[in-house]
Amino acid sequence: MKRPVVVKLGSSLIAGPGGRVRRSVLRARAREIGELVRVGTPVCVVSSGAIALGLPRLGLTSRPRSVPKLQAASALGQAKLQGLWDHALGREGLAAAQVLLTAADVADRAAYLNARNTLAALFSLGAVPVVNENDATATDEITFGDNDALAAQVAILVQARLLVLLTEVGGVYSRAPGTPGAELLELGAEAGAAELGDGSPLGKGGMRSKILAAELAASAGIPTVIAAGAGPDVLGPIVAGEPRGTRFQPGDRAPSAFKLWLRHGKPVSGRLHVDGGARRALTDDGASLLAVGVARVEGRFEPGDAVELVGPDGTPFAKGIAGAASGDLSGRPRGVEAVHRDRLVLY
Ligand code: GLU
Repeated sequence: MKRPVVVKLGSSLIAGPGGRVRRSVLRARAREIGELVRVGTPVCVVSSGAIALGLPRLGLTSRPRSVPKLQAASALGQAKLQGLWDHALGREGLAAAQVLLTAADVADRAAYLNARNTLAALFSLGAVPVVNENDATATDEITFGDNDALAAQVAILVQARLLVLLTEVGGVYSRAPGTPGAELLELGAEAGAAELGDGSPLGKGGMRSKILAAELAASAGIPTVIAAGAGPDVLGPIVAGEPRGTRFQPGDRAPSAFKLWLRHGKPVSGRLHVDGGARRALTDDGASLLAVGVARVEGRFEPGDAVELVGPDGTPFAKGIAGAASGDLSGRPRGVEAVHRDRLVLY
């Protein structure tokens, strides 16, 4: 089977002012998804819009600040959102599957692998997973941040060949689109110099969060296109590699799935400050980290938690899975392995 394409649609493409559903956008994207699936390219949709669709049902016209109200809006809107995708994809003869993820699912290796197996099974059945964050249980501390970050994590999870972030504007512009001198940047490498705005009144991520998501995907070897999501021809040309929007190219190194998860999925529970000799052994010789090389332990963690490794100059240079608890690593004990080389990623 070909590697999948992950397509993310922002809230403003799903719902217009007053929560009015943009059926023509859904229908046009579903038609293109159908064309891709029929030629053997699995597609995973990441769809925002639960909150935007839920707000009118609470009598609200803009996003409330209170987290429980946002969660209530999302719970009210999610069923409707899924129903819209079910209908739009159903017209193309495709089955839409609802997958609600939390950041905790990504942090936990077993849940991560389960999610990956579920998505792979859906692809092989010819179904289209429609993913959103499980907003009802997400908390401030444990959240993807926004659906751009979620889409990048999903792209890494399914080892996508391409991530497409669809939005209202045509890509990354050198300054606010519509202002004098604003130019579309064709290459993501030029995006660093752009003057960026924040999110829409109904959605969460702005252009900044899309660029971060594209950079996250690029570090995992996945290209990203940020482009306008309304109109008739969007996905076909993008997937065919035609110039549309802003394209971010990845480096040519493609790390293993475990190392990708360790680097991007697993949250850090503590830090190990290592001496110069240990740092050299890790970076130059590919050695494991022994506790004798650990000058200082920061934070409390258990074996299996992720720790960041910090060099003598104070710069973090690696992340790994601790082989021992924080309490057993202080005082440079001999014969204790702090992090095994196979459970380590260098930055
Ligand atoms: N999960 C939210 C929703 O579906 C969207 C978050 C975002 O806009 O990034 O409404």
